Amino acid sequence: MNVIMKFGGTSVQDADAMNRVIAIVRNQWAANSTDRPPVVVVSAMSKVTDRLVETGRLAGERQTSQATQIIVDLLTRHLSVAATLVQGPALDELNAQLTSDFNALQVDVTAWAEAGEVTPAAADVLQAMGELASSRIVAAAFRQQGVNAAWVDSRQVLVTDAEFSAALPDMDATTERAQAVVATKTAAGQVPVMGGFIGATATGVTTTLGRGGSDYSAAIFGACLDVDEIQIWTDVDGMLTADPRVVSTPVLVPELSFDEASELAYFGAKVLHPSTILPAVAKNIPVRILNSRRPEVKGTMITAKGRGNGHTLTALACKRGVTVIDITSSRMLMAFGFLRRLFEVFERFRTPVDVVTTSEVSVSVTVDNTRRLDDIIRNLRNFAEVSTEPNMAIVCIVGENLRSDPALFGRAVNALQSVPLRLVSQAGSRRNITFVMRDDDVIAAMNLLHDEFFGVKVGA
Ligand code: ADP
Ligand code: ASP
Ligand code: MG
Repeated sequence: MNVIMKFGGTSVQDADAMNRVIAIVRNQWAANSTDRPPVVVVSAMSKVTDRLVETGRLAGERQTSQATQIIVDLLTRHLSVAATLVQGPALDELNAQLTSDFNALQVDVTAWAEAGEVTPAAADVLQAMGELASSRIVAAAFRQQGVNAAWVDSRQVLVTDAEFSAALPDMDATTERAQAVVATKTAAGQVPVMGGFIGATATGVTTTLGRGGSDYSAAIFGACLDVDEIQIWTDVDGMLTADPRVVSTPVLVPELSFDEASELAYFGAKVLHPSTILPAVAKNIPVRILNSRRPEVKGTMITAKGRGNGHTLTALACKRGVTVIDITSSRMLMAFGFLRRLFEVFERFRTPVDVVTTSEVSVSVTVDNTRRLDDIIRNLRNFAEVSTEPNMAIVCIVGENLRSDPALFGRAVNALQSVPLRLVSQAGSRRNITFVMRDDDVIAAMNLLHDEFFGVKVGA
């Protein structure tokens, strides 16, 4: 079985975590010794991307010394992990590479801070450093432990458009490069080690896929390389029935369909980047979520078919900090073309809409990206009254049984009796129901629903 194995930020957070990664990859390869070596994709070490984002913010505010101090601290952290894992001339080489990469970034950050501007392209160069550095260390650590690994610069493989911070892959161009650069290495018995999250345009300008995008990278590479399984190694046992930060006792979902996984990821199950499933579906490649601290646990298997987990619903998800926009116009009554005009505004400002509900004279939508909200409101006001409500949240219940059992809707609403609901929507797929409510009510709502459908008592 040929696999791609992606390790998230906590799975490469320090030298111990990286040692666990090496052991997991070695075991995987040993178990499939007749196949090609696995391809390894890593995230930045945990919190590094957050720190780089912070650096960009500080540079934009001309806080040169604070911004550059973060880069110095990050270099120190990476050098210290490198020194624990690698020795001799290989360490000298790794140190020289990391130092020169971070120093070059330091020069850039200083220039951006002096100008008081970090362009979207510059922000992507900045954030790409986390994955570049972690992948170089992991590749060297593999070699130190006798695994024939080769670092691959993902920017030479993942070809994207120029939509900085949310770049989309060119699958044909990426397949060509992946075959030329990555498949040749596995064919020669080497383990390619690559950074997730980052790519470059066809002309070589660095881009990123958006926060949490390393999962997506792994799925893209997996599809381009036609692997048999895409493995997402993280810090939980798999997809759980709810976010463990919100519900105290969620349980593992052993199997999921692609559709269910997409809905859960889209509505906030951070364990999987929402786009991860797309390349997997296109090539029908199973995606497995696994725990790098407990590799013996079977995790969650995501396939076209999926299969019930014995519970009525599959899982719950929530997306916090969303904004509701209410758009009202009497012109909407019996009119056609109104919705097109309305959604064109969102399209023009490249803002995805999550939940939509309509009545005769009003449309309510939720957005989580408020970057262009002012522009959107101004444009909508040309033809409608507009009001917004921030600090809202979406709670989503997902399960194939929602199609066949009409009583489930009632059970969910009943469980949420004490929670004021702002919008309710059942998707056309009938695989999910979304509730929009105040963000302050989310924890209570999630626990009530979890209690109702997964039988786990609140606070138990
Ligand atoms: P990584 O760095 O490995 O990509 P992430 O932090 O992006 O890890 O994703 C894993 C986290 O996703 C978990 O620690 C958990 O807090 C969160 N999460 C949210 N919803 C779920 C869910 N339904 N199942 C499992 N984890 C979830
Ligand atoms: N390092 C990136 C982030 O923190 C990508 C990822 O971890 O998936 O968003
Ligand atoms: Mg992630």
